[in-house]
Amino acid sequence: MQYRRLGKTGIQASIIGLGTEHLDRKDYSIVEETIHAALETGINMMDVFMPGSDVRQKIGKALKGNRDKVMIQGHIGSTELNQLYYTSRDLSVCRTYFENLMRDLQTDYIDFGMLYLIDNEQTFHQVFHSDIVRYAEKLKKDGIIRGIGASSHDPVIAKKIVETGIVDLLMFSINPAFDMFPADMHIFGYLANEYDKSRLLEFDPKRLELYRTCEMLDIPITVMKTLGGGRLLSEEYSPFAKPLTVHQCIHYALSRPSVSSVLVGCQSRKEVETAVAYLEADPADLDYTEAIRSMNSNFMGSCVYCNHCQPCPAGIDIAAVTKYLDIASMDKNAVSQGIGQHYRELSAHASDCIQCGSCEKRCPFSVPIISNMEKARSIFNY
Ligand code: SF4
Ligand code: SF4
Repeated sequence: MQYRRLGKTGIQASIIGLGTEHLDRKDYSIVEETIHAALETGINMMDVFMPGSDVRQKIGKALKGNRDKVMIQGHIGSTELNQLYYTSRDLSVCRTYFENLMRDLQTDYIDFGMLYLIDNEQTFHQVFHSDIVRYAEKLKKDGIIRGIGASSHDPVIAKKIVETGIVDLLMFSINPAFDMFPADMHIFGYLANEYDKSRLLEFDPKRLELYRTCEMLDIPITVMKTLGGGRLLSEEYSPFAKPLTVHQCIHYALSRPSVSSVLVGCQSRKEVETAVAYLEADPADLDYTEAIRSMNSNFMGSCVYCNHCQPCPAGIDIAAVTKYLDIASMDKNAVSQGIGQHYRELSAHASDCIQCGSCEKRCPFSVPIISNMEKARSIFNY
């Protein structure tokens, strides 16, 4: 397993995590084999948002004796009504379900208390201007949660959330199709297959802005909907010329700025092992660029952080330098803040570029890399 730092918490999270949604209503034997496979492969990040006691108790039983080996995202606001999922903003209901989660999991702490599903202004207001956020802050103060997180599918609201300064972690839906949706199309239209392929045109600038803001503020992202509900893998439903693979989807998400862990929904040992086999995959099999390029040519000139341009004889991590350049171009203050430090910590810098041009020949998106290196050297002065 590989691990990445979870922002300012400094905690190391496995780059592949486990989404447990598909374990809902499954036999205990399936829950146990899935959880145990995750632990055995070094997964230490897990999301449990389901409000039903049955699945949570099965997860708790499967985790017995290993609670300290995994970090759990537990959600504040994921509840039930008439035995159906229900998002509540009523503090007493939220508190009951959160306390029940700890009881069901047989634990006295949850690593990240997630403010659940904040997708519009109204819910942002209901959570961040209410007792709910104060409840989360009190849990953190009392050591019952290690950090406050939030989940969202909306890039504008998610950016607003991370800019509150309250959250330590963001859970966000990321895959190539979602990133390419025009901002006025809601992603659930895609999940319902109600979309117009010809409108998948370019990276949604609001999503790019969110990723860069998270990187700038050092807020880690854990990823949900990595596989687009499975549709990206399907001949019938993939919006691309050909379906992506699980590993390409994971690789795409892990290539976005600030992403620490990609939570893959699994319901068997085999599915966990398939996800984790990403670590051993041939780099050629991780390449998602062909699928993106097959859609249109609007990506030409824009870096998608795919690393196709490597190796660089000067040892420059071109994708990383370009990413920091993109962020610094968005906000000049970033240079004097965390991004400047991240840039300095790279082992080679734009000033090391010998302008050999080999990278530009390899870049599938015709990114003007040499010119970008000059800009980065000028902005970062290094
Ligand atoms: S410069 Fe081109 S090849 Fe290199 S990371 Fe960016 S898009 Fe990929
Ligand atoms: S042009 Fe510069 S960045 Fe590109 S491969 Fe050559 S030395 Fe590296």
